Amino acid sequence: MPPSRRRGFSLPDDCLFCKLYREGDHIAATGGFVAIRDINPQAPVHLLVLPERHVDSFREIGEFPPEEAKRMLEFVADVAAREGLTDYRVAVNVGPTAGQTVFHLHWHIKGGWA
Ligand code: 5GP
Ligand code: ZN
Repeated sequence: MPPSRRRGFSLPDDCLFCKLYREGDHIAATGGFVAIRDINPQAPVHLLVLPERHVDSFREIGEFPPEEAKRMLEFVADVAAREGLTDYRVAVNVGPTAGQTVFHLHWHIKGGWA
């Protein structure tokens, strides 16, 4: 068994968000990033931005080349704007005790409150 699996981490082959990157219902996409609606929304609008690059969590943000990290953040802002959000919350849960349940980096965009 590969070391990453022994440590209990997702591998890209069996990672839910790697799968949704490839074949999910994308509301927006650009090179290397997609946005989907959260299946269990915690706000009137609740979107997720997923990078194609699999890293387990935000802790590994340093694995993104600087230009790619910048484009990811710009895509988060673009997706929010395209959904008509001016005020919104961007969040990343890092680790299980902070609420992370899917171990592929993703950005929550929540908004749409009256
Ligand atoms: P986390 O808890 O890791 O920060 O966020 C994972 C998010 O993914 C949760 O808000 C959860 O509702 C969402 N989610 C889990 N499974 C699916 C799925 O199959 N499709 C979509 N669209 N969202 C999912
Ligand atoms: Zn993944």
